[in-house]
Amino acid sequence: MTVPAPTEGAEGQLLVVGAGTMGAQIAQQAALHGVDVALVDVNAQQLQHAMASNLEWLERRVDKGKLEPQAADAAANRVTPMDDLAAAAAGSAWAIEAVVENAEVKRDIFAALDAHLPAQAGIATNSSNIVVSRLADATGRPDRCCNMHFFHPVLVMDLCEVVRGPATSDETCARAVAWSHRMGRTPIVVEKEIDGFIVNRILGAASREAFALLAGRVASAEDIDIAVKRGLNWPMGPFQLSDFSGLDTVLGVRRDRMEREAAPGDVATVEILERMVGAGRLGRKSGRGFYDYAVDPPAPLPPPD
Ligand code: NAD
Repeated sequence: MTVPAPTEGAEGQLLVVGAGTMGAQIAQQAALHGVDVALVDVNAQQLQHAMASNLEWLERRVDKGKLEPQAADAAANRVTPMDDLAAAAAGSAWAIEAVVENAEVKRDIFAALDAHLPAQAGIATNSSNIVVSRLADATGRPDRCCNMHFFHPVLVMDLCEVVRGPATSDETCARAVAWSHRMGRTPIVVEKEIDGFIVNRILGAASREAFALLAGRVASAEDIDIAVKRGLNWPMGPFQLSDFSGLDTVLGVRRDRMEREAAPGDVATVEILERMVGAGRLGRKSGRGFYDYAVDPPAPLPPPD
C-alpha cells in the first residue's frame, strides 16, 4: 500500500502572485489537488488569459477522458482571479511568488506580501535562480521565507525544489515540503542555498557550452539540438528548451548568473540572448526564437547578427 505523503502544515488558501507561464499552472496544479487558490497579476489581460488557458486545458483533459467533468469544474471554481494583492493576501495561508525574474520586483512583492499576509503565513519564490536570502530581508519574517522552484510546464513536470535560505526555519522548510505534496508534486530539499539550485546548475552548465559552440560557429542551433537529443537522450535540445522556457526569462537568469559567478561561456550566452530578445524573438510565446513556430514542424531560424 502506498503511504500518502504528509501534508500537515499545508492547510488553507494558497496565494499565487503572477499569472504568467508559471503562475497560471501553479494555481491550476494546486486547484486540481483540492486547494483553494487566489491568483493575482498586475496585468488584467494576463490574468484573463491565464484563466482561459487553464479552462481550455481542463476541457481538453475531459475530452480525452483523463479527467471527470465534475473534477474539472471543481478545479476551475477553486481558482479566484484577483487584482487586489492586499485582499488576496489577507485570506491566504501560504504565498508563492511567480512574477518576472527580477530581484527588485520580487523584493517589492515580498514586502507587500509581508504587510498583508497573516502572521503565520509563509512566502515562497518560484524564481529559477534567485536565492530567497536576496528577497527575505524585504520582509519582517525571513524565517518564514524559502524557495519553491517548480518546473515548466508545471502541470506535467513533477519536481519542486525546496531551497532553504540561511534564515529559513525548519518549520517553514517542512511546510514547503508539505505544500508540494499537497499540490501533487515531488519535493526535494536543497539544504544550502546556491544560485540555480540543482537542476538549473546542471542544465546551465550544459546550456552554456551549447551557446559557446553556437557563438563559435562550431555548429548550428538545430544540429546542437539534434546532437543532444540523439546523443544524450534529452527530450529537447538546449535551444528548443530555451524557446520553450521563454528567451526573456532565460536571459534574466543567465545575466544574473553571469553577474554573480562569471563562468566562462556566460558572455557568449548573454550576447546571443540579448540579440534574440532585442529582435522580439522570445521563443514559443512570441512565435519566433531559435525556431520559427509559424510552421509545422518549427523551422530553424539563425540568431540575428
Ligand atoms: P512570465 O513573464 O510568463 O509571467 C510573469 C507574470 O508576472 C506576468 O503575468 C506579469 O504580468 C506578472 N507580474 C509582473 N509584475 C507583477 C507584480 N508586481 N504583481 C503581480 N504580477 C506581476 O514569467 P514566467 O516564465 O511565468 O516566470 C515567472 C517566475 O518563474 C520567474 O521568477 C522565473 O524565473 C520562474 N520560473 C520560470 C520557468 C519557465 O520555464 N518559464 C521555470 C521555473 C521557474
